[in-house]
Amino acid sequence: MLGLMQSQQLLISTLIDFAERHHGEGEVISRRVEGDIHRTNYKEVAARSRKVANALDGLNLAFSDRVATLAWNGYRHLELYFGVSGSGRVLHTLNPRLHPDQIVWIANHAEDQVLCFDMSFLPIVQAVHSRCTTIKHFIALCDADKLPADSGIPGLQSYEAWIGQQPATYTWPEFDENSASSMCYTSGTTGNPKAALYSHRSTILHAFSGALPDALNMSARDAVLPVVPMFHVNAWGLPYSAAMTGAKLVFPGPAMDGKSIFELIEAEKVSFAAGVPTVWQMMLGHMQAGGLRFSTLKRTVIGGSACPPAMITAFNDVYGVEVLHAWGMTEMSPLGTVCTLKNKHLAMDSADKMKVRLKQGRGIYGVDMKIVDGEGAELPWDGKAYGDLLVKGPWVISEYFKGEGGSPLVDGWFPTGDVATIDSDGFMQITDRSKDVIKSGGEWISSIDVENIAMAHPAVAMAACIGMKHPKWDERPIIAVVKKPGSEVSRDELIAFYDGKTAKWQVPDDVVFVEAIPLGGTGKMQKTKLRELLKDYKLPGA
Ligand code: AMP
Repeated sequence: MLGLMQSQQLLISTLIDFAERHHGEGEVISRRVEGDIHRTNYKEVAARSRKVANALDGLNLAFSDRVATLAWNGYRHLELYFGVSGSGRVLHTLNPRLHPDQIVWIANHAEDQVLCFDMSFLPIVQAVHSRCTTIKHFIALCDADKLPADSGIPGLQSYEAWIGQQPATYTWPEFDENSASSMCYTSGTTGNPKAALYSHRSTILHAFSGALPDALNMSARDAVLPVVPMFHVNAWGLPYSAAMTGAKLVFPGPAMDGKSIFELIEAEKVSFAAGVPTVWQMMLGHMQAGGLRFSTLKRTVIGGSACPPAMITAFNDVYGVEVLHAWGMTEMSPLGTVCTLKNKHLAMDSADKMKVRLKQGRGIYGVDMKIVDGEGAELPWDGKAYGDLLVKGPWVISEYFKGEGGSPLVDGWFPTGDVATIDSDGFMQITDRSKDVIKSGGEWISSIDVENIAMAHPAVAMAACIGMKHPKWDERPIIAVVKKPGSEVSRDELIAFYDGKTAKWQVPDDVVFVEAIPLGGTGKMQKTKLRELLKDYKLPGA
């Protein structure tokens, strides 16, 4: 017997319809490439998304055709989120931080038909357009009078002229909720990049679960600042969850420096912000230097790489901002776990509470996880046993776009490539990427633990731990450190700083001071590049 409920497909167009009707005045604020602050609301975003849909129809794009963006976080990008997916096309967010050759490879692999780009990326598009063989239409996200006279890009149009003539009425098509809605290529640390292809259904379910109180806790009373880029895993689904809840959206545009982010938080009364640790590092540095305080920020979700304890302490204890440590992946839309405490943790002293906060958190509804040993046998949830982390759920990929790399699943579970523990309360803690774990004398050393201790030293701006070949121990950890400007610490002082903070055999054998640690397009440390930089390095005594 079937239930007797109305059958309505879970489509992304329903989000913007809802936001328009129920939160039409809900604000959408953007710092633009032009440098000014632009103010609009869900009602206008909805109308302009429908213009985008009409404009795409005008280009005769077929259902599921890919429309690419090279854009910062901003209202025009948001309109494309809804206009492209809502009209049945697939939004392909390209990462502008990638090498131009990679952008070409990815755009051709995705068979993008249209490319909409912010003017900051004009030089990239000028360099790559002739090699992007499937792109027929280039749209610059600007006013008509800002379009360069001689860009060299055939048929280049301004976004405002492109949608300007279109009607603001459009009937969103109804189709199967399992249809593709957007796509994002993974960083591709091994081999060519591979794409996760999200569906309308997976996106809506992810937005629901992400907005729940024990996940990101989003509501119409929030002003949300996604610093995490809309070109990386749909800004962790925040644009969708915001439309679903009516939260005010505040977009930073290209200005990611500490001063600009801090000023935007204060000016727009941001209550909730999301970003990777490197962004917050810059903002905290700016605040510390100027003795600044937040007046409205209540919580911040930090993920993408491990959040160092010093950062949690700074936010919680110094600035009164709750840190939600979160973990996920491109292949998971991305949210998997969020570290929201349970009642039993609230009474803990601050040292024990910190131990919990450092974990990546517990699964949000919809994501199941398990850890397994080398033979694939499930390991206990005791907070000690560590093994390969596998996940499954309705917003976890089943395969990559075009079947690249074959079937990634093992008995229906997706292997994340992370190594983790899970405790009896279900809190998962990443100890490493499986390829970064350091194997010393048959034991594993967590590079994240070694980095976290160094990051707690007042003179350390950034630290990356890697394993170096050792004749006796197989591998030994060393730590590459970037000092804070104007601060000093010697190798011996930093090694001594580990005293009492970890087991002796986990203390790094050496410290290498570097100007910068190579970061990838999504702000993650690139340890492969760091290893290349240090290829001539010799361990003391090795
Ligand atoms: P990406 O698909 O580029 O977002 O990268 C996903 C990977 O980032 C995960 O598999 C983890 O290795 C890493 N990651 C994400 N969030 C965290 C976190 N909170 N702590 C440690 N690693 C993380």
